[in-house]
Order: sequence, then C-alpha cells, then structure tokens
Amino acid sequence: MRLHVSSAALIAALALSGCMTTSEGTPPSPVAPAIDAQLWTDLTTLAADDMEGRAPSTPGSERARAYIVSRFEQMGVAAPAMGRLQPFQMTNRRGEVVNGTNILGVIPGTRRGDRYIVVTAHYDHVGVSDGQIHNGADDNASGVSTLLALAADLKRQAPEHSVIFVAFDAEEKGLLGAKHFVEAPPVPLESIALNLNFDMTARAETDGRLWVTGTYQNPTFRPLLEGMAPVGGISLAFGKDTPEDTGANNWVEASDHGAFFRANVPFLYLGVEFHPDYHKPTDDVERVQPAVFQSSTTLAIQSFRALDQGLSR
Ligand SMILES: [Zn+2]
Repeated sequence: MRLHVSSAALIAALALSGCMTTSEGTPPSPVAPAIDAQLWTDLTTLAADDMEGRAPSTPGSERARAYIVSRFEQMGVAAPAMGRLQPFQMTNRRGEVVNGTNILGVIPGTRRGDRYIVVTAHYDHVGVSDGQIHNGADDNASGVSTLLALAADLKRQAPEHSVIFVAFDAEEKGLLGAKHFVEAPPVPLESIALNLNFDMTARAETDGRLWVTGTYQNPTFRPLLEGMAPVGGISLAFGKDTPEDTGANNWVEASDHGAFFRANVPFLYLGVEFHPDYHKPTDDVERVQPAVFQSSTTLAIQSFRALDQGLSR
C-alpha cells in the first residue's frame, strides 16, 4: 500500500509534528510522519526540479554538488588530504567521455584510525529526457541524504574506524566515479576494511525490506547484522548476491560497490527493491513515505555502528 500525499501537506504535517508539545492528555498524532527535519530537507533539496536530474557536467549537478559540500562544511566534516573534490574524466563502455566530480569527507576513528570504512552514495542521476526531469528522489537523493544523516550521527559520536564519505558522480554512466576512486584512492586500498554503499534507501514500503547485498562474498559481515531489530516495520534482508540470483536480481555490480568488488575491497550494499518509479520521471519526493525513509535510514545508521564495532580487521 502506497500513500500519496502532496509535499505541501507533508511539510505542514512536519511543521505540526515539530511544534507539538507533550502536554498532558495529548496523545502523539498517529498520522504525523516521523522524520528528522534535516533528512527530509536534504532529500527534497536534492530531488527538486532545479537540480535538473543531476546529470554529470550540468548546472543542476553543480548545484547538487554545492549543496552536498555545504552540508559537509556545516557539520564540520573535514576534507581528506587530497581535497574536498575529486574531478575525473572517464570513458564508459559506450565510448562516451564523461567528466565528473566526486565529493569527499573524512571523520577520524577512535580505535582503528588507520583502517577505513568508505561510505558511499551516488548523487548523479539521468537528467532530463523528452522534456521531463528525472528527479531521482529514491535514486539516489535518498542514499546521499542517508549518508549525510550518518555523518551527522558520527559527528555526535565518533566511529571506531576512520570513515571516508564519498558522494559519487556518474554512477548512472557506468559506476565511473567509483571506478576512478578505486584507481586513485585517497588511502591505500589495503587499508579499506569495508565499502558500505547506499543506493535507493527510501522506498522500502514495497516489501518492508532494506536489502543487504554482499554477505555471500563477505560472509564475516553477516553475523554482525543478522540480529538487527526491525525499525518501524522495516527489516534487513540478505541476498541478491548468490550465483542463483541472476540478471536484474543480482545486485553485486548494480551500483558503485561493484567497483570495490572488482578491486577486491570488501563491500556491502544497502538498497530497496525495484519499484514502478525506478528510472522514471515519477521518482519524486511525493512518492516517498517520510516514516519509511526515516526507518530505513535509522536501520542503515545502526548497521554502520554494528559493522564499525564488530569488524575484525
Ligand atoms: Zn542508483
């Protein structure tokens, strides 16, 4: 069941829920969507029409990049030694030469500062076609917003491993930002204990699951996540990564984590099942249920903590 409400109605409901006091005798509203205001702002900003679908090398992409940079700076997430931006030029399988720019941030770890978890989400999408803007709210304004929410959480309580955040460009052109990153990483690939990739984290209402892909290839991670309690009716599910999972049902190389997989870096991917708005101009914020997105983001943050605390290397 999918609830369609206008963003104006959502904003009004959010404002109300934010202002609500817990005065005696006033039960919490059962319909007010529970979502962190910043998480919703990040999603709606990145998926707005003026981002023009965030295709690489467009004014809309530049605006999205400026917004993500400003969010890192606002939170005090430092740039790594190589700098905040990692520009690249890559040629994809179709022979297309693509110019893109990855965005980086780093938070030092408290226990294993010399080991890195690289948390990633692509900020590009497919732009405009036939006069229609593909806003890519789920794909992947959601994953970037989840990444920013995790960064905020890690600024409140530092991680044990050092964390490098990367918002990748040109994923939709063939994982190009990620491929460049593993060719020119800011730290040696051997020091990366895990790539945790977020791509499509909002629309978990389809099956109530946030899928974890990659434990078939990296089985030591699975026990760290198996006991995770569901959040708001959304639970982790493991799969889309075995030899029996074929075609579009195999997600091992379906997003940027595929570049880490190819480079023999341990990886996990978190994302939701395909839905009818996938890669359609209808992948809009109006189709995102705030409470579902908040639940899957909370689950993603809890998953990060479990991995950070449980990784053996
Ligand atoms: Zn995507």
